[in-house]
Amino acid sequence: MRIRLPPPPPFFTKGIMKTCNKCNIQKDSSDFSPRKESADKLSYICRPCDSERVKSARELKYGVRVRAPKKSDEELRQGRLERAKSYREKNKEAHRSYNQKRCALYRERNPEKVKLAKTVENEKRKALRALRPPKIEKPKIRSLESSYNRFKQREWYLRNKEKAA
Ligand SMILES: [Zn+2]
Repeated sequence: MRIRLPPPPPFFTKGIMKTCNKCNIQKDSSDFSPRKESADKLSYICRPCDSERVKSARELKYGVRVRAPKKSDEELRQGRLERAKSYREKNKEAHRSYNQKRCALYRERNPEKVKLAKTVENEKRKALRALRPPKIEKPKIRSLESSYNRFKQREWYLRNKEKAA
């Protein structure tokens, strides 16, 4: 039969004494870090012993260096960007709906800017339309067909050159 343990004390409650597994000193429960896996939800060693443990583990990993090597601002920025990217890829739907809400809110708050952007887009489209060669109907006369075809080819070339630029 399983033995039922008493309910764990909430984190950082004072007044419950606990003996550290490392220094064997009885200390108050507030001197122990929270640890979800433990039955009493507290670490098995006290805070000073734990920081000592972390420090010696770092020394073992990095030699005489006590602190982990510092990352440059650019490295930190790259890390942030990569984490954000992987989050977006893992939560595509959530990211999309978030973005939609954010854009809607922006449009609501900045109606003048949205209007201006639309005007600029329309002007750009108009300018591009003016650059395009005018459409010419296919001639009914047979002798003109080959020159019409040549014109079409030239038009296609110009249109695609414009696209590629
Ligand atoms: Zn201790």
